[in-house]
Amino acid sequence: MYINFSSYLISWYNENKRELPWRESRDPYVIWLSEIILQQTRVAQGLPYFYRFLEKYPNLTSLAEASESDVLRMWQGLGYYSRARNMLICAQTVSQEFNGIFPADYLQLRKLPGIGPYTAAAIASIAFKIAVPVIDGNVLRVMARYLAIEQDVRSPDAQNIIQKHLQEFIDPLAPNLFNQALMELGALICKPGTPDCIHCPLQLECAGFRKGIAANLPIKSRKTPKRHRFFHYFVFDCDGDIFLKKRVAGDIWQGMYDFLLVELTNEKEIPDVRQFSKQIPVNDLTLKFESDWYKHILTHQHILIKFHVYDLPLKASDVLPEGEGLKLYSNKELEALPKPVPIVRFLKEFFIN
Ligand code: SF4
Repeated sequence: MYINFSSYLISWYNENKRELPWRESRDPYVIWLSEIILQQTRVAQGLPYFYRFLEKYPNLTSLAEASESDVLRMWQGLGYYSRARNMLICAQTVSQEFNGIFPADYLQLRKLPGIGPYTAAAIASIAFKIAVPVIDGNVLRVMARYLAIEQDVRSPDAQNIIQKHLQEFIDPLAPNLFNQALMELGALICKPGTPDCIHCPLQLECAGFRKGIAANLPIKSRKTPKRHRFFHYFVFDCDGDIFLKKRVAGDIWQGMYDFLLVELTNEKEIPDVRQFSKQIPVNDLTLKFESDWYKHILTHQHILIKFHVYDLPLKASDVLPEGEGLKLYSNKELEALPKPVPIVRFLKEFFIN
């Protein structure tokens, strides 16, 4: 049983793989960059970011010397911004502690900031041909079906079974091809929903297919319920210039720029601009308009956002204390700042020409 897994898989991959730029490379920097960008991101969405990053930061040293603000600005729109921050810290660590060269060792890779088991295995196998299996969502799905695992695929038990089989199946001479092939099979053939078993190179040995249960696998226990949040942004417009502040640690969008924020617990609650009286001379304010709700959905959060735009006379802004990181930015300056997607959408609609 399972004797032909690796050879069938790699032959299929060689004939059917998509041509993707990082597949031409064995450079650990290029592989690492692509893997970080593609986490939680579709290839079509990640591809332009990959090209832009590689053009601006062609090697690890150039990225290590970049500012966090520049990296976040380049990352803008991709989401999961901790990836970008960790990417920069990782580049700095490799630059300082490993002379700018990624270590050819799975355990050392694992210790680097932002590099989990998946990314370490991808770099180790693809760049250095070390036989460590990668396990991502695609691989879990293929293996749960192939082995007909009828328990929660995220349970330690299921993960151990999968890990053990992968360790046995991986081709020690071509772990790079094996890992990429398995992920590609999950992306193109053994897809979420209904798998395309007719065109699958593993069909003959696939237990899920034989039992007729493949489409019901993998089994996943109920996900954590989404958290609902209600953001009210106060936008103070001083003749085209706008107040923004940098978000601090402890919540989403750390290091990016947004407006003064009041978070409420439901859609009906109404915020009061007077709560900013210490930062803004509220008597000088004129409400210009309020936006409709903007919807922003993250993996575990569902955020409704409303913008309240006030005119603030220039003379009032002159005496403003720039407290809590609040600063006035011109149209041109704010374009260069890293901002969360809903802020970008709002600014495009109402402020940036
Ligand atoms: Fe997935 Fe079907 Fe292939 Fe089995 S035969 S691995 S279920 S595509």
